[in-house]
Amino acid sequence: MPNARRTHTFSESVIREMTRVANQYGAVNLSQGFPDFPMPDTMKDAACAAIRGDINQYAVTWGSKPLRDAIVGKYARRYGMTVDPEREITVACGATEATAAVFLALFDPGDEVIIFEPFYENYGPDAILCEAKPVFVSLVAPDWHFDPDLLRAAITPKTRAIVLNSPHNPSGHVFSRAEMQTIADIAIERDLIVVTDDPYEYIVFEGEHIPIATLPGMADRTVTISSLSKTFSITGWRLGYAIASPERSSAIRKVHDFLTVGAPAPLQDAAAIGYGFDDAYYQKLSDDYRERRDYLGAPLREAGFKFAQPAGAYYFFADFSGLSTDDDVTFAKWMAREVGVATVPGSSFFRPDAPEGKKYVRFAFCKQRATLERAVEKLSRLRSLL
Ligand code: GLN
Repeated sequence: MPNARRTHTFSESVIREMTRVANQYGAVNLSQGFPDFPMPDTMKDAACAAIRGDINQYAVTWGSKPLRDAIVGKYARRYGMTVDPEREITVACGATEATAAVFLALFDPGDEVIIFEPFYENYGPDAILCEAKPVFVSLVAPDWHFDPDLLRAAITPKTRAIVLNSPHNPSGHVFSRAEMQTIADIAIERDLIVVTDDPYEYIVFEGEHIPIATLPGMADRTVTISSLSKTFSITGWRLGYAIASPERSSAIRKVHDFLTVGAPAPLQDAAAIGYGFDDAYYQKLSDDYRERRDYLGAPLREAGFKFAQPAGAYYFFADFSGLSTDDDVTFAKWMAREVGVATVPGSSFFRPDAPEGKKYVRFAFCKQRATLERAVEKLSRLRSLL
């Protein structure tokens, strides 16, 4: 008996596959975007205390009270945004589950969802799983801005939503206030929802992160999704959430309940204390990433890669066409095997069979200095191996 048709049109995550390739060749892993340095000690201690304190059974399905209250505090302090902890938050197993639950809860088969391309690879399968149609709007290289006319032209009577990921994975583009306002104007004019994906909101080097929900008229038509993974270097804890109007949240909560019941209870309580950290923590997080960006960026350019300087997030989306005429998958595998540095092939961030991605690879710089030093040393030999 064949597997369900919906599984035929997407493949396993290439990002996660490249971590396996890195391990196979013993390459420095700059592919999957997870930090290889420790998380804050106070949160580790809080997790141990929560487990020892017997917080080991299901939390409330839409999130433990301490974590929901901490999320409310975060949005009030940082963005002046009011969120109701009882009716508007759904805590999920990462932004990954939150996004899947939001798509399944809000989109019907045949609905169209606008996705800026290149894009984080989950959105395509998320759309396929709910039988919605992803409609791609190109971000324009080299600075990855979007053309409002292209966005308008992509909207049809079936369009339900625009997915907005800023800081953007893989390009590092941080959408400006003017760009956000244009998206908000179009959403209001065409009666669309905006679904945001904000895991890198604290990792911004130029510009600022603006939740589009805070723009006039947008609170009720935005679903704000974010994650604790990158903010606290806890990608394995699987904690994220969706903030939406009470009506939308009730649908999102139902889907979430039957997907996973809830995120890990002791980790939710431990993570809550993170949002109580003072500004110095967040400043240091961003400063440290800026240092890593600057440290790796220069040798990458010297090695012959071309890219826009990322204004946020922790990736270089690098054009390697000056180095090789191979396609991205061949080049990435060669890099992992011969140079000893693992990256993600650019085509993973484009529609299947799109030609545009084939000249890019993505480098993640969310790594400790020693890891980056090893990568830089290997990259210095790249040209001699061509
Ligand atoms: N968001 C990270 C990336 O783009 C991690 C992806 C994942 O494996 N969940 O690499």
